[in-house]
Amino acid sequence: MTDTDPPKDADNTLEPQRMEPPTSKVSQPFWDATREKKLLLQHCEACDRAVWYPRVLCPHCSADGLTWREASGHGTIYAVSVQYRPGTPQLKDRVPYAVVLVDLDEGVRIMSNVGGRVDEIEVGQAVQAAWEPLTDGRHLVVFERSSSNGTQSRA
Ligand SMILES: [Zn+2]
Repeated sequence: MTDTDPPKDADNTLEPQRMEPPTSKVSQPFWDATREKKLLLQHCEACDRAVWYPRVLCPHCSADGLTWREASGHGTIYAVSVQYRPGTPQLKDRVPYAVVLVDLDEGVRIMSNVGGRVDEIEVGQAVQAAWEPLTDGRHLVVFERSSSNGTQSRA
């Protein structure tokens, strides 16, 4: 059935655009929610803190029974690193790109990417969650700068 196969040079194929993260029993609720572009974080009822990344025990107080809550998706850039060499071969057309640590409003720090011109991305900028589709229906959480930053690009 070659007539259903997209040409290799098509812009919109189902080939992975990046390394796609594996799931686990613990992280499955997180990944299921990304199918609806919802960002879930674990929450510890014992110490009332958010937990990232998904795990069995609270890293703050070692309690178990972590629950899931939907996060706001809002945060602030804590650190940024511009990559001029792709981390994997699939990323070769994206360089340079920004790898960031984002402090979410819920109090956890998450590593991700921020889109846009890398020379306009700075520590302290407000960002919000955006979603990049994966090939199996899940989405990867990435970030975009919040419009309140108001930077006008020459491009
Ligand atoms: Zn705890």
